[in-house]
Amino acid sequence: MNLQDSISTLKGIGPKKAEAFARLGISTLEDLAFTFPRLYEDRRNVISISELKEDENAVFTGTVDIIKPVGYSRRSGKVLKMLISDDTGSVEVVFFNAYYLSKSIHIGDRLTFFGKPQMNRGRMQLVHPEFSRESEAQTGILPIYPLTKGISQREMRKLQQTIRTVYADAESILNPETEKRNNLCDIGYAIENVHFPEDGTKLREAKYRLVFDEFMVLQTGLQAAKADQGSMTEGARFNNPGAEQEYIDSLPYSLTSAQERCVKEIAKDLESAKRMNRLVQGDVGSGKTAVAEIAMYKAAKCGFQSVMMAPTEILAHQHFEGFRDGLGKHGIKVGFLTGSMKAAKKREVLSGLKDGSIQVLVGTHAVIQPDVEFKKLGLVITDEQHRFGVNQRILLKEKGENPNILVMTATPIPRTLAVVIYGDMDVSVIDEMPPGRLPVHTRCAVDEKARGKVYDFAERQISQVKQVYVVTPLIDESEAMDARSAQEVYDQLSERFERVALIHSAMKQSEKDEIMADFSDGKIDILVATVVIEVGINVPNATVMIIENAERFGLAQLHQLRGRVGRGSSQSYCFLIQGSDSELARKRGEIMEKSNDGFFIAEEDMKIRGPGEIFGTRQHGLPDMKLADMVRHIDVLNTARDEAKAILADDPGLLKPENSKLKNRVKKLFGDDFSLNL
Ligand code: ADP
Ligand code: MG
Repeated sequence: MNLQDSISTLKGIGPKKAEAFARLGISTLEDLAFTFPRLYEDRRNVISISELKEDENAVFTGTVDIIKPVGYSRRSGKVLKMLISDDTGSVEVVFFNAYYLSKSIHIGDRLTFFGKPQMNRGRMQLVHPEFSRESEAQTGILPIYPLTKGISQREMRKLQQTIRTVYADAESILNPETEKRNNLCDIGYAIENVHFPEDGTKLREAKYRLVFDEFMVLQTGLQAAKADQGSMTEGARFNNPGAEQEYIDSLPYSLTSAQERCVKEIAKDLESAKRMNRLVQGDVGSGKTAVAEIAMYKAAKCGFQSVMMAPTEILAHQHFEGFRDGLGKHGIKVGFLTGSMKAAKKREVLSGLKDGSIQVLVGTHAVIQPDVEFKKLGLVITDEQHRFGVNQRILLKEKGENPNILVMTATPIPRTLAVVIYGDMDVSVIDEMPPGRLPVHTRCAVDEKARGKVYDFAERQISQVKQVYVVTPLIDESEAMDARSAQEVYDQLSERFERVALIHSAMKQSEKDEIMADFSDGKIDILVATVVIEVGINVPNATVMIIENAERFGLAQLHQLRGRVGRGSSQSYCFLIQGSDSELARKRGEIMEKSNDGFFIAEEDMKIRGPGEIFGTRQHGLPDMKLADMVRHIDVLNTARDEAKAILADDPGLLKPENSKLKNRVKKLFGDDFSLNL
């Protein structure tokens, strides 16, 4: 047996099984060895029957004294009971709809049970416990693996047992010095103990090693991708101190002091020889776009082009219109680029970028396509809500010679993670709202009757020439039963209201644009939408946001959606219609009613959902980790980061033989289209 062997060489793995394993990404024994348990079940504590306690998971072995069908329950079909005993006592075990068991199990058989006893009429009883014959029983700490259709837990465990002898052949991807410096256990030992841990200490040691390895690969890749991105690099220099002031003076409002501070920080970066690498964090509506606009103005006045990448077409288009008005007044030409554009129009934009006649470009990820060439790109801005991957940002950056970088986000990111995701960025925070904003009043509603009242309220607002959003979650067919689709809501509203429109992600861009334009111009009173409006769009006259099936959105997302209203000077309202009145739904509702503070809400969201959900690697277009979790293992992450830096400093292209395995793993993890300096 060899780690490179195909799993088909194992007994019991035919073509069909092999296919099922392929779905889990497993084709070799090595893949199998690196398929780690998700959880463990502690079955070390084998007790006698007299020690069984109500509601406590237990493992025990006993002899079948009685096994008999005892009749029929309407809910559960035929009932089978066994009486199991050992030297210390006996306990009843009940199975529903399992007459077939009486064929294979006989009086006198020795069985091992895993389950939680319940009291029933004064007697201890186990209902449907897991069990096996004593001879086949697995006790100890049992691994629980991720599975797919066609592969059972038992089978996976058995296969792991089968290949257990070759775990030790796994080769370390780290050089011996790194292992030593970080007190890492041997890789073979780690694999053995992550599958079959003898105790908690060994499991921890094992996990540490494996998590460390994963982070080493991730961090080495990121460092290699960022090697030319360090803050010491020279960047495009905008040598026009104060040029932004004439633009600021032309704005119809004065900047908040937070915006002013942020603009100053950006201007200083842009004027210096050092390339800017800055993250702007600010709650929805805090005026990040205005700050970006000012930076683009400064770039243009210095002869540089700017590009802004937005996560959705609608948002990109809205930015485009805003910039065309604002920057256009100053003679700056603004271009727009998306994937769905007509070829002729696109060619025109591309040539404008190449000859430099277009100074500012706004678009979706279309702006990173290879055919997009700039004459003199000096500023790259991404407006994102965690939607762009690290790699997309790098591709965009490569369109210029060391362009300055500005990333805008409405989600507060813990500093430690920002470093991983964005590299060594400087951070500016806009922690103040433009004046005159009234906090949005938020109310939760649960049932049909409440929905009627919400619609009554919307009607009154419409009669005051205000506008209304209704947002529904994106649902697929199978869920259609329990969530209201946009279409359904639209149909219902259309019976009652006149000027209602529906917008959803499957629509053509031109249709969406038309509807958005009509809504913007006040020709539509109620806009029913799936989450396409989640980010960024700006219609200050809209004062009501109704969110259907609010329980399906994350809190941070609800906050984003709510940020679509309250953008003008009138009082705005948000109604969360919950399809559930569970404890959790209520708690979430309370948080939303109580707070308008995105940072607070994000924190609460993190408490409820767990940080991994929100800051997972995949969220950021980074390769998937198996065991490693950027939040839970932040200390390991930081250590690995330093180690990766040290290794790359010593051996930039990872050319030394002792680093070749690491290099291969990095290349494999990041794939071909991730540009690495390796
Ligand atoms: P963000 O991108 O942070 O969500 P925007 O830049 O879209 O916020 O700003 C939201 C709205 O506030 C826009 O209509 C913008 O014109 C307006 N705005 C921005 N800054 C100010 C300010 N200092 N005073 C008044 N209104 C502002
Ligand atoms: Mg914005």
